Amino acid sequence: MSTLIDPYRWSGGLLTAGDSISLSPGLRVEKGELVDDATLARHKLHVRAGKALVSLERISSVSEWLTDLDSYNISEKESRQILLFLGTIGGISIRRSLTQQGEMFMRKASLLYLGAPPLQVAVRRSATIKGISSSVFQAMLLLWLVTPAMALLLSLVLPTAAIPWLLPSLPVLFMGLVAHEYAHVIILRRYHPAICVLRRGMRLAILHPPLDMWVEAVTGLVGPLAGAGVSILTSMLVSRASALPGVLFAGQAIALLHLASLLPFYGDGRSLLTLFKRTAHVTSVS
Ligand SMILES: [Zn+2]
Repeated sequence: MSTLIDPYRWSGGLLTAGDSISLSPGLRVEKGELVDDATLARHKLHVRAGKALVSLERISSVSEWLTDLDSYNISEKESRQILLFLGTIGGISIRRSLTQQGEMFMRKASLLYLGAPPLQVAVRRSATIKGISSSVFQAMLLLWLVTPAMALLLSLVLPTAAIPWLLPSLPVLFMGLVAHEYAHVIILRRYHPAICVLRRGMRLAILHPPLDMWVEAVTGLVGPLAGAGVSILTSMLVSRASALPGVLFAGQAIALLHLASLLPFYGDGRSLLTLFKRTAHVTSVS
């Protein structure tokens, strides 16, 4: 692989030469395997892939990493596979300045406009209130950007029924989601301190190893309940402070969405269903 390669093109619009990168916290290379402390998973690595990840443990810039990959005779295709694998498990941590972030945002927006969406990878953060808030904020990025424009547009089309409650509903959604994820974390952390939060686009998950059935069942239940409760409470506070009764209805709708995640189709409901099936299986063979 040539070191003259353009990192932006090589990474599918994910990285630029100036970015600082590292293996995400909680991941380490040990005896030819990538060990994930959050899930206790062990990924067997090809020798050269192992070298590439050991290099990522100690280097800090994209251009340095590309030089290392070159010295290990890793082809462009192989290095891209390594990057994709890391992206899937939230294994690469990227840091860039605010100016660089602005530049990347514009470049990604232009790629989207041209119908070529940039590579999207999962992002892993520690499951602290700060890590969760930041993950929720970024998962809602599109809503923070689109909602003001939508509120303005609706108020022009429907002048008598302007939608001033649309914007104050965003903090209600934010607080509800933070409470939802943090409630999962409070239970899980008692049994496995190394858990972390994973964001893939607009979706969030808490990474943890398989735990006792009752721990997982309680974890699955407390998230939606906490999310619904905090959404109602926050909407009452925001509605009172802003004198906009519409926020109350938005809060109730958001609370229903949290409770709907207990249905067996997706999210917590699906996890609970899987848990139930696992238990049923264990019961049938014992
Ligand atoms: Zn949940």
